[in-house]
Amino acid sequence: MLDTLIKNALAIPMTDAGDVIDNCSIGVEGGKIVYIGHETPEAREVIDAGGRIVMPGLINAHAHTAMCIMRGYADDYPLKSWLYDKVFPVEARLDERAIVAGATLGMAEMLRTGTVSFSDMYFCQPAVAKAAEKIGMKANLCNAVIALGDGYVFENDRAVRETAELLSKYGASGSIRADVSIHAEYTSPPAVWRRVHEWAKEYGVITHIHLSETLSEHEEAKTRHGMSAARAFEANGIFDTPVLAAHGVWLEEDDMAVLANNGVSVAHCPVSNMKLGSGSADTAAMIRAGINVCLGTDGACSNNSLDLFEEIKLAALVAKAEALDPTALPAYEALKMATVNGARAQGRADETGRIEIGLDADLIMIDSNSPHLRPIYDPVAAVVYSAHGSDVCMTMVRGRVLYRDGEWLTLDIEKAVRDVEEYAVPIVLNR
Ligand SMILES: [Zn+2]
Repeated sequence: MLDTLIKNALAIPMTDAGDVIDNCSIGVEGGKIVYIGHETPEAREVIDAGGRIVMPGLINAHAHTAMCIMRGYADDYPLKSWLYDKVFPVEARLDERAIVAGATLGMAEMLRTGTVSFSDMYFCQPAVAKAAEKIGMKANLCNAVIALGDGYVFENDRAVRETAELLSKYGASGSIRADVSIHAEYTSPPAVWRRVHEWAKEYGVITHIHLSETLSEHEEAKTRHGMSAARAFEANGIFDTPVLAAHGVWLEEDDMAVLANNGVSVAHCPVSNMKLGSGSADTAAMIRAGINVCLGTDGACSNNSLDLFEEIKLAALVAKAEALDPTALPAYEALKMATVNGARAQGRADETGRIEIGLDADLIMIDSNSPHLRPIYDPVAAVVYSAHGSDVCMTMVRGRVLYRDGEWLTLDIEKAVRDVEEYAVPIVLNR
């Protein structure tokens, strides 16, 4: 007997464009998808989808989840003063309890809006890993190495110690995984990049970086290295192991070829890029070049939401507007970014991102009975252009329902909000 059967679903398996299965049953056993079809095999728990859309859970490929504590704290500032006058001083005051509180609220939001797995770059990640494990979400976690100033000693860096801890505890497989991270080209020298890369080789993990987010950053890299950041990373061997690069707003054609040749994934973060006035990445050109493009929300201090449905719709719209061509990024391609491509970027292509037998049952249900989702001619278009994260009515990770109909089954939502508002907010406001 199966553990769980989802029946009567309008399934979008994300296995191929145009694939939609009406009146679909999905059987789950041991956390895996073991049945897809029109029968209704016996199961201990039956979830009647009632014709609602069921699809793979979403993957947020670039987040700073704990920054939820700064949601709405610093809006409409120029990027430099946003970062140096608002964000960095707060981050210097944060302790582990505040960070875990923010990350927990962020995970609650992600589950509520259909995200099952996230790639996160922040501080205190060993503690965030424990919280994610308890909640049951999947996560690729890293603490970015930033090496500014003459007095920098790699061994004394908190990010280095935390990375070592994550690597030894989680490594490159499982629901929680360690990634390593070079924060960005402009925040550390090549000698430090190569130290981080040693880990990537030794543990077989992904290197998560920020790449060419702003025009000034992109141009300054050329002055510093005599070549673009992408080329400088390649020249230092950093792309010899899998890399997830966030943003890529100012990548030039040559850079795109470098990324494509090295199998680098790019996490497109359209909301954050637009809100910070950084520009808009040319994802259509990236896809043409052969780059695996996925989607990220970035932090809630530059977004201000972790709802990936916003990124999916914007990714499609921005590409069309930039190219003056409504065919530049079709709905299915945009949805693929948040599922199939995100899984690949996380090293989880054989595990999640599609509804396929043998993959983990990482599934979401969308309440497609709402007025704004009717009628449905094309379920993919409905999800991409009409749905919101708040339409998600169930989020399942590894066969376990973590959110359903307004209830979080593995976390105390009232406590999560209280911890942020009563403990973390006073630290943000320095009271
Ligand atoms: Zn970022």
